Amino acid sequence: MTWFEYQRPQSLGEASDLLRKDDSVALAGGTDLLVALRHRAVRPALVVDLKSVSDIAEGIEVEGDRLRIGGRVVMSRLTRNQHVGRHFPALAQAAAVVGSVQIRNRATLAGNLCNASPAADTAPALLAYGATVIASRPDTTRSIPVEEFFTGPGTTVLERGEIVTAVELPIPPTTIGSAFARVTRRRGVDLASVSLACILDPSGRARFGFGAVGPTPLLAESTFDELATDEGWSRLLAVTSPITDVRAGAEYRRAMLHVHSRRAFQAASEQLRAAT
Ligand SMILES: Cc1cc2nc3c(=O)[nH]c(=O)nc-3n(C[C@H](O)[C@H](O)[C@H](O)COP(=O)(O)OP(=O)(O)OC[C@H]3O[C@@H](n4cnc5c(N)ncnc54)[C@H](O)[C@@H]3O)c2cc1C
Repeated sequence: MTWFEYQRPQSLGEASDLLRKDDSVALAGGTDLLVALRHRAVRPALVVDLKSVSDIAEGIEVEGDRLRIGGRVVMSRLTRNQHVGRHFPALAQAAAVVGSVQIRNRATLAGNLCNASPAADTAPALLAYGATVIASRPDTTRSIPVEEFFTGPGTTVLERGEIVTAVELPIPPTTIGSAFARVTRRRGVDLASVSLACILDPSGRARFGFGAVGPTPLLAESTFDELATDEGWSRLLAVTSPITDVRAGAEYRRAMLHVHSRRAFQAASEQLRAAT
């Protein structure tokens, strides 16, 4: 690790001003950042700890027809929250497989997105549910659809000084079917080789979020009718571009993607049928 200055601001304004400086970086749970610091993959002059910023909520609230997940909410809270479990089960399932208990008690949802790993486990569910990232500076707030948030491996549309203060999800007005699937090399702590979430609504629309099969997490949409044919599945999966890396080969990823997408679709369809 190299030397850096450490600041723990109390307000969003203070934190944002500090993060406008070149070579500054935000620290939330630190589960990605500390690894990067240790490996000298990042060498910031200033680390800005967000844990005392009271304007960044730690809670999960229903606000009208949306669920608002505060920027400091950790994975373990997501897995226990009744609103997430009821309306967004695929997100609860994704949060439950992140790392270990210790990691889930520190790792924030916002940090998982801002780290922008193509394999970020919560991203497929957030994409499929149509989530929005709320990015704030004292003077401005932007609502960014998750599908527009990632620009490449490790990069996002966030500008200097912008802090993710919340993630919002539209509460489905009707019963929907959902499924989450994840392939790893082994049981226990490992990043996904392939992950996906599938959301189906009674009007016949299907939304899939895919992880670890492209440079960013990816969204693809289709219909039940299209997915009744092999061509429909090929069109759906055409957004993906799996590569070979330390976790899996491209061919294996492609094969797993086909199998698990169809299984997730089947599981979500059965769920939807049983509920309607
Ligand atoms: C042992 C281990 C196992 C893991 N297993 C998994 C796994 O199975 N699945 C998975 O998806 N991830 C896994 N991770 C990665 C990690 O836990 C997650 O990505 C985590 O959610 C990051 O959140 P954090 O709060 O720790 O972020 P930090 O490490 O504090 O920050 C990550 C990045 O996001 C930025 N950032 C954080 N919060 C904000 C904010 N509010 N606004 C703007 N920028 C911000 C930081 O500047 C930094 O660049 C694992 C990590 C470890 C160490």
